Amino acid sequence: MLAGLQDIDWIVLLQTPLFSAFIFCVGLCIGSFLNVCIYRIPLDRPVTYPGSHCAVCGSPIAWQNNIPVLSWWLLRGRAACCGVKIDWRYWVVEALTGCLYLALWHHYVHGENPQPQLWLPYAVLCSMLIAATCIDIDHFMIPDRFTLGAIALGLIFSTLIPSMHEKTTMAAGFTASFWGAAVGFFLLWGVSQIGSFVFRKEAMGAGDFKFLGGMGAFLGVASIGWIIVVSSIVGSFFGLAIIFGKQGSWGTRIPYGPFLAIAAVAWFFGGKDATTDWIQNFQDRVLTPPGEVRTFQQPGE
Ligand SMILES: [Zn+2]
Repeated sequence: MLAGLQDIDWIVLLQTPLFSAFIFCVGLCIGSFLNVCIYRIPLDRPVTYPGSHCAVCGSPIAWQNNIPVLSWWLLRGRAACCGVKIDWRYWVVEALTGCLYLALWHHYVHGENPQPQLWLPYAVLCSMLIAATCIDIDHFMIPDRFTLGAIALGLIFSTLIPSMHEKTTMAAGFTASFWGAAVGFFLLWGVSQIGSFVFRKEAMGAGDFKFLGGMGAFLGVASIGWIIVVSSIVGSFFGLAIIFGKQGSWGTRIPYGPFLAIAAVAWFFGGKDATTDWIQNFQDRVLTPPGEVRTFQQPGE
């Protein structure tokens, strides 16, 4: 008798090391594509045509010289065509994408309570975070397709996969995503208004508000506080390091998008648990009247 599809233990299949290796390779290839996006999108060039070519001499790049990470090391960081130096960031973006894909896979497929359906939306979000970060570093702006695009994709994914927000219906998934986007956008806008009033200087741009809106659409309202707090702490340390490392002064312009992206990635790996614990603690200590014993029964139990 042939086993029916429903008889296959899908989780066991997804948990095999071969599948992890496959996910890592997918990440490397997507990372390679992100490099193309990072270079071409701010220049308003199409990302799919023409194929990869040398930015200096224009020669097409042969497939064997276009293997993620490996080719950079085999060619010792120089182009095969004209010997121009290739920035190390190309292979870092590829390796980072591969590692993040693998880490998300491990998180959502290998945990106690596997939720493999969450891997795809969050891998998409992380890809957008990486590309937006590099573009923000290069050009001090984040193109709308990574910010408004993230809001749109977050709404779509949340409607199709309501478990992203621990919801069970499509309407509830959409609503949670909508509030995440709205609170992300307007809260950071508010913070920036206060910031420019206090420091008399534009600290953030509209791209940053839209960017946090996109993160909120994927991660929900609870993530917004975490992302704002963590990004401003990491950003402040970075700013101080630059000043004391004599790499810049108080006036040095630093893009804020990368810190938002770092905080959003940290949400997956500890931030969500920390925030959930904090909210629980707050409810127990502040919102529960003294003397009342709080029980953890779910409604309907
Ligand atoms: Zn060349």
